[in-house]
Amino acid sequence: MAKRFACRAATWRTGVVSASTLLFAAILAAGLQSADNISVLGNKPRWGVLEHYQQTITRDDFAHLIGDVYGTHGFASDLIEIKEDTARILMNRDAQKFFTLRFAAGAVGLKPVPRLWRPAKSLPSEQRNKPLSGLKIALDPGHLGGSWAKMEERWFQVGDGKPVQEGDLTLCVARLLATRLRNLGAKVSFVRSTDEPTTGKRPDDFRELARKILIRNGVPQPRPDVLDLTDPEKEKTIRWQSEILFYRYSEIRRRAALVNFKLHPDLVMCLHFNAEGWGDPTSPILTDTNHLHLLVNGSYLAEELEFDDQRFEMIRRLLSRTYDEELPLADTIASAMARETGLPPYAYPTINSTTKVGTSGYVYARNLLATRVYRCPVVYCEPYVMNSEDVFARIQAGDYEGTRSINGVERKSIFREYADSVADGLVQYYSKARESAD
Ligand SMILES: [Zn+2]
Repeated sequence: MAKRFACRAATWRTGVVSASTLLFAAILAAGLQSADNISVLGNKPRWGVLEHYQQTITRDDFAHLIGDVYGTHGFASDLIEIKEDTARILMNRDAQKFFTLRFAAGAVGLKPVPRLWRPAKSLPSEQRNKPLSGLKIALDPGHLGGSWAKMEERWFQVGDGKPVQEGDLTLCVARLLATRLRNLGAKVSFVRSTDEPTTGKRPDDFRELARKILIRNGVPQPRPDVLDLTDPEKEKTIRWQSEILFYRYSEIRRRAALVNFKLHPDLVMCLHFNAEGWGDPTSPILTDTNHLHLLVNGSYLAEELEFDDQRFEMIRRLLSRTYDEELPLADTIASAMARETGLPPYAYPTINSTTKVGTSGYVYARNLLATRVYRCPVVYCEPYVMNSEDVFARIQAGDYEGTRSINGVERKSIFREYADSVADGLVQYYSKARESAD
């Protein structure tokens, strides 16, 4: 649910999504926002903010984060130039304007990093039996669910069975997880707490933008409507494009405003369920494939770094040092989830858009909209293939206490297994980090 989808529910159209995303920006650059080169519904970069990060990082750390985490696919040489004492970062190519970041001379000369979130080591000391005391966690259940699930293409149904709607599953997990985290002392907030959108916009608000995008993309007379769920030309319709502008771009940007300006959490947990391509949602393909992976921000594509806003957001994220916190967190949570779910690591079919990071074998860096624009550590969970035989049966069984026999195996409810394993990973990470801080 992002710039590029981490969920593979719509695998059969992922390529189209990426391509149209790039073209989205082309139209904005070409007409809607004059000389600014901004991605769809993006914000104009405020480069001056980066002045607060002068001398907060050494050259070695900066070069490592660019080379191994954020810029792993390479980029045009004028975008970021690392010199001896400074980095020169392109603000806008037409204007030939650059931002100069000054490195700290060494560990001694490091200035403190300005940030609103608190790393584990700077939380107030732990209360007895409350390993998450004082920690502010925001839960972000992916997608919308409810009556929006079909529009989001996060819906399928087998026969007369219960429809599977990712947005409802993630909200169920978030509610269970919130109770567990509060009992452990955390202050929990929800980025979404119902099956209604956070954004006040609706698809009709984006019809004109959708039309312009399609024309710019070589569809001179876009059709207004989609024929049916399996319409192969649906991406070329004003309806499909205006819906995606609503439920993905507008919705995630609104959630980001909530996280950044209201909730101010120390950590956001993005909760998703994964899928393999299911084809026709009214007659979906079920598979025996099942897996787990987690994502943190990084691994920007060369073409993404061409956008002034994405380049700025990447540099701000790098300088706020979220990676130092989110990588070990993601690794610890991934290991707990792997242990409790028994799921093998997901392997992306190509390395074109992700970079494997960390030590658990389950964590990838990827530039998703949510992991980029929430200004704090973000761990994005993608366990369970919803249209695997096993997970489908567990979803049909719903939520319950204790264990039940599912396909001949005694299992916890899938929602509780998900929530419990994330909570266990968080306890493990924060207990250890706080212990070593004492
Ligand atoms: Zn998802």
